[in-house]
Amino acid sequence: MPKRGTDCLTILPTYRCTAACSNCCFGSHPWVEGRIPQSEILRYIREAAQFQTLSLVVFSGGECFLLEEDLIEAVALATRLGLATRCVTNGFWATSERTAMRKLEPLLDAGLSEINFSTGDNHSEYVSLDNILYGSYAAKKLGIGIAVMIELTDTRKVTRETLLQHPLHQRFFGTNRELNEFIVESPWIAMDEAATNVEYDPAHYLNKNNVHTKSGCSSILSTIVATPQRELFSCCGITSQQIPEVKLGSLDQHSILDMYEDASNDFIKMWLAVDGPEKIVAWASQFDSSIEWENRFAHQCETCQFMFHDAKVKKVVREYYKDVIHDVLLKYSMLRPSAPS
Ligand code: SF4
Ligand code: SF4
Repeated sequence: MPKRGTDCLTILPTYRCTAACSNCCFGSHPWVEGRIPQSEILRYIREAAQFQTLSLVVFSGGECFLLEEDLIEAVALATRLGLATRCVTNGFWATSERTAMRKLEPLLDAGLSEINFSTGDNHSEYVSLDNILYGSYAAKKLGIGIAVMIELTDTRKVTRETLLQHPLHQRFFGTNRELNEFIVESPWIAMDEAATNVEYDPAHYLNKNNVHTKSGCSSILSTIVATPQRELFSCCGITSQQIPEVKLGSLDQHSILDMYEDASNDFIKMWLAVDGPEKIVAWASQFDSSIEWENRFAHQCETCQFMFHDAKVKKVVREYYKDVIHDVLLKYSMLRPSAPS
């Protein structure tokens, strides 16, 4: 049993989705083939449950509701193993109050703890905001936890206020902005380098004036992710598929526990957890002032992708990481203490 373990297993059962949002981090759309076989999904849950630290199983995608009965079975297994569960969805199935209740009731019976709805300008081209509100209302009535993630860009039309002022919000939640505390606006990033439609308020861009406000990555080594290709990743970052260093290996060839044990000794992953990519990149720029990092990135995972890909940053990290190793290891041991033997 590893001394340190992960807190969360995220399963991406398929990249197939009912939507085809531009800049989807997985390039999902309705014609994507393939999914993780159900027997493997259940095996991953059983295997990850051996970590004493594991508390949550997340089902995302693509669109996890396309699994239908299999999703209910997987949620029920995680619940029997004492784990909380979360489904991340675009809400395509919540076409009315009654339909949303019918979809969520069996998941509630299986033990579903929380549902996250994704929406925003791109999502709402495929799934109406009505669905997000029907789904949120049904979840609230059933006592399932709710979160609503909204794409954040400079030029967007769909905002927190759009949802709060929506007639269905007024009808279901009244005028007291009840959904407000469950809404998170998160930068929507350009996955396609040619994309020009993703711009942010200048205040969101990383630079030397705000880098001190950035935190360590809360996902690396605390969330492991199983992909439809049956590969395991060491974080749930939206750019993780473009970062070979966070891929741990094939779930067909290695056990989750072994892959995690190997990854948990990787210094750069510990450093990411302690300081985050923003501070690492800023630190590297002190050694090489030609590193171009300021006012380019709004999302932590964008900065991380740059950190792993930029030759100048990589060179500085290779040459000077020993300057910070003791400090980072000490902070990491406090951040993620070992389980008692
Ligand atoms: S709903 Fe989510 S998974 Fe589906 S295409 Fe849009 S961003 Fe991708
Ligand atoms: S910052 Fe890096 S390590 Fe953390 S979640 Fe994003 S891609 Fe993964």
